[in-house]
Amino acid sequence: MFADLHLHTFFSDGTFSPEELADRAHAEGLSALALTDHDSVDGCPRMALACAPHKIEFIPGAELTAEHRDREVHILGYWLDIDSPALLSRLAGFQAVRIERIRGMVERLNQRGIPLVADAVFALANCQSPGRPHVARAMVAQGFCRDYDEAFERFLKKGRPAWVPKARMDVKATIEIIHAAGGVAVLAHPGLYRADFIIPELAAAGLDGLECWHTKHFGGASAAYERMATQLGLIATGGSDCHGMSKGEPLIGRIRLPYAQVVALKARRPTAVVS
Ligand code: AMP
Ligand code: ZN
Ligand code: FE
Ligand code: FE
Repeated sequence: MFADLHLHTFFSDGTFSPEELADRAHAEGLSALALTDHDSVDGCPRMALACAPHKIEFIPGAELTAEHRDREVHILGYWLDIDSPALLSRLAGFQAVRIERIRGMVERLNQRGIPLVADAVFALANCQSPGRPHVARAMVAQGFCRDYDEAFERFLKKGRPAWVPKARMDVKATIEIIHAAGGVAVLAHPGLYRADFIIPELAAAGLDGLECWHTKHFGGASAAYERMATQLGLIATGGSDCHGMSKGEPLIGRIRLPYAQVVALKARRPTAVVS
């Protein structure tokens, strides 16, 4: 039995509906899935319903935008109580900033002679947690860029003219909110930060797991993170980080996490759930 613990739908910046994602997971023979939309749990109820007919175990989750030592890091929360008022109020705060940020990015594009309209981005995003991929897709749809990657390279990447920072919560506070909502906290794609020294620090801050297997971990990276997880007492996890069709072929199925890791991660759930 295999799992994929890192998936996005159109409730954030993925392109698949929960139903499409569940159908593809079934076709790939996966037995357990976590939905980890950016700063949102809105897709979880529909994803749970979509998994049920396939007998796929569903884990409600989210990928939260956090900060440690002035770096953006992503913390995956699993088995979240999606009705937790503390969690929902944090998510609402993130989402409000994301919406303002879209307006800021559009304004910067306008100043550079690109007449994109914020409402076109919101209409395309059609969710509470809009992000740069929606801006990129709107730019391509309206012919302002040739393709998605060009939009990032020329305008949207950090340091480019239309880049605007997001709201980021301190990583310790993020882990605490996840635990208070009955969940477990996992550091997403450690290979993308190029700052492995932060991993022991996050372990000390209460992290439960490390996403050792990810579609952007190449060469010996996964094995090295697996060893690090063992040394630090973290559960080794993995996921594809599939965003649907946004980057050509979908990534679901590329990471097949042995189900034993799901069992080990589940054992880290806080027993006293405070919401
Ligand atoms: P945001 O949450 O608005 O900062 O957007 C982050 C998302 O944008 C990531 O999850 C990726 O899907 C995508 N992304 C980030 N950087 C790039 C890049 N350089 N090229 C293409 N997509 C990117
Ligand atoms: Zn994304
Ligand atoms: Fe991420
Ligand atoms: Fe992700």
